[in-house]
Amino acid sequence: MVERTFMMIKPDGVSRGKIGEIIQRIEHKGYAIKAMKMVQPTPELLAKHYAEHVGKSFYPSLVQYMTLGPVIAMIGEGTNIVSGWRTIMGTTNPTLAAPGTIRGDLGREWEGEAVMNIVHGSDSVEAAEYEIKLWFA
Ligand code: UDP
Repeated sequence: MVERTFMMIKPDGVSRGKIGEIIQRIEHKGYAIKAMKMVQPTPELLAKHYAEHVGKSFYPSLVQYMTLGPVIAMIGEGTNIVSGWRTIMGTTNPTLAAPGTIRGDLGREWEGEAVMNIVHGSDSVEAAEYEIKLWFA
């Protein structure tokens, strides 16, 4: 099924110069990038994006991490892209993510409390619609 998802290159991906490599992986897979922009996330936007994590112990570090610098926000489109993009990203913890995945290949040891893992992808079709509306209002 052709789906849309919200994809993001997080501040560490941008500052470490990985934009090109990550976009190349998206294009190699054959996904279409329907929209793309560079944004400086605010704590207000992040509270809506990460609503399910507000109040958790790692949340302040997550906001600190996600406001370190600009991110690349994208709308991707393709067959089964929601789960397919998450497979290409790899699992949350970059030290455990499989080789061949973005997080597995480019991820580093955690620095501080936040898990710096380079990329984001919506975890369901419903979350994708919510996040696309939020970031591309
Ligand atoms: N995160 C964190 N500490 C944790 C769990 C998550 O810093 O213990 C961060 C990490 O950057 C992660 C984001 O919060 O990517 C969202 O967490 P989620 O469990 O939704 O992981 P994802 O879907 O990004 O793999």
